[in-house]
Amino acid sequence: MEKMNDLNFGPMNFNIIAGPCSIEDYDSLYEAALELKNRGIRMIRGGAYKLRTSVHSFRGLGDAGIMHLANVGKELDLITVSEVTQTDKVDFMANYIDILVVGTRNMHNYPLLELLGKIDKPVILKRGIAATYDEWLASAEYIIENGNNKVILCERGIRTFEPETRYTLDISAISVIKNKSTLPIIIDPSHAAGNRDLVPSLALAAVAAGADGLMIECQPNPSESICDANQTISPDTLSQIMDAVPELRLHLSRMKL
Ligand code: PEP
Ligand code: MN
Repeated sequence: MEKMNDLNFGPMNFNIIAGPCSIEDYDSLYEAALELKNRGIRMIRGGAYKLRTSVHSFRGLGDAGIMHLANVGKELDLITVSEVTQTDKVDFMANYIDILVVGTRNMHNYPLLELLGKIDKPVILKRGIAATYDEWLASAEYIIENGNNKVILCERGIRTFEPETRYTLDISAISVIKNKSTLPIIIDPSHAAGNRDLVPSLALAAVAAGADGLMIECQPNPSESICDANQTISPDTLSQIMDAVPELRLHLSRMKL
């Protein structure tokens, strides 16, 4: 895990994870990863096991998708990030992927969390759509108590009464979690928004509020994405977000809150 040394998340290590919602094939993943790498991204995401609301939707390439991501990561020297959805895939994924993600639907999957406590890879724990801060931190404890303290929390929007956005991004989570815990917290504006037009403002709000990183769905042909096309942004938009980050973080570091 040498390449993770300078690439962890925390106040001194702001990182952006970007890539498509789902891995569709090797070539398109490689193309997306290369484009993102050329723009300064060092962590690439892509889902292989997609937990879709409808059984009729594309549910990912499965193990083959993980191998595509692992190979692209090796080829381009990028850190790979992907969601693990079930206990019997933990060892397989830990062999090939650098950072494992627990998706919102699995925040309460305690057997999965326990197994993730036994591996030596960072785990991004997304907040359940209706989980309180304490429930979220209690889930993190399942991983930490089992021996893995490399837990990164990810706020990705919660379910509220507002139907215009896919979820409601809870920006307060950043400050509240930082008061309650020492774990890094990153923000996924894509799933919160459900709409690419909202992603830049949510991303920058998160940076201004002190987030330790971002995870954003992005690929060269956003509207052609099989999964989550509406919320996927273009590499140009991502570059604009990246350009705004340093100044926002500088302002924040000067403020004594
Ligand atoms: C994802 O990141 O592709 C995803 C499905 O996210 P969430 O678990 O937050 O819905
Ligand atoms: Mn998605």
